[in-house]
Amino acid sequence: MRRKLAAGNWKMNGLPADLAEVSALMAAHAAPAIDILICPPATLLAPMASLRGPHALRLGGQDCHAASAGAHTGDISAPMLRAAGADYVILGHSERRAAYGETDAAIAAKAMAAHSAGLIAVICLGETLDQREAGQTLPIVAAQLAASVAQSATAQNTVIAYEPIWAIGTGRVPTLAQITEVHAKLRADLTQRFGAQGAGMRLLYGGSVKPSNAAEIFALPDVDGALVGGASLKAADFGAIISALSAA
Ligand code: PEP
Repeated sequence: MRRKLAAGNWKMNGLPADLAEVSALMAAHAAPAIDILICPPATLLAPMASLRGPHALRLGGQDCHAASAGAHTGDISAPMLRAAGADYVILGHSERRAAYGETDAAIAAKAMAAHSAGLIAVICLGETLDQREAGQTLPIVAAQLAASVAQSATAQNTVIAYEPIWAIGTGRVPTLAQITEVHAKLRADLTQRFGAQGAGMRLLYGGSVKPSNAAEIFALPDVDGALVGGASLKAADFGAIISALSAA
C-alpha cells in the first residue's frame, strides 16, 4: 500500500514572514491521513522544523551535493539538510537539469548521498515539448529513470516525480491519458528493476497542479500524489490540493 504524498516545492521563494502560510496549513490539516511535504529554500528549513513541533508535516531540501562535506562553495550536503530538519530532498528538478547541466548520473550520485544521510530522494524526470511532439516521451522518461535512480533505491527511500517540462509553471497540463500512459510505463520499469520495492515506490505527477485540476489527476491509476510548485506557496491552494488527495 503506497501512502499518498502531497509535496510542495517552494523553489527560490520564501522569507520568514511566509512561515505564516505553514502555520495556516498545519492548522487546517492538523491530523493528515496522507504525507504532506514542503521543500522550502534552505534558509527556511530550520525555522520550519521548529515551527512544526509534533505536527506530521515533512520537510525537504531542493537539491544536495553528492559529497557529505568539502570545498564546494554554495552547495549543501545531504547530512546538512538532515541536520536542519529535512526528511526528503528533491533531486534532478528540470530547472536544475537545465540551469546547471545536471546529468542523470550526477542525480543518481546525489540520491545515494541522500539515502546514506537518511533522506528520501524525490527524483524528478520528464520530457521537453519537442520530445513530446516527436513521440519520444516514453523512451526519454525510461532512460532518465534507468540512469537517475540509484541502485540503493527502495520503496521507503525513493519517490519518483513525473514532471513534463512544458507543464511546469505554464498552466499547461498533459491530458489524463498522457499522464496515465507515462505513469504506467514508470511503474512497469520500476517493478521490473526493483521487484516489490519498485511496485511500492510512490509516483507523483508534477506540472501546473492546481485546486481545480487536482481531483481528476489524483483519480488516475499509479498517481500517488503530486509535486506542486506555484500552488504550494499559499496555504489555501496547497490545502485544497491536500484535501483532494486525501479524498482520492
Ligand atoms: C515544479 O516546479 O516542480 C512544479 C510542478 O511547478 P508548478 O506546479 O508551478 O508547475
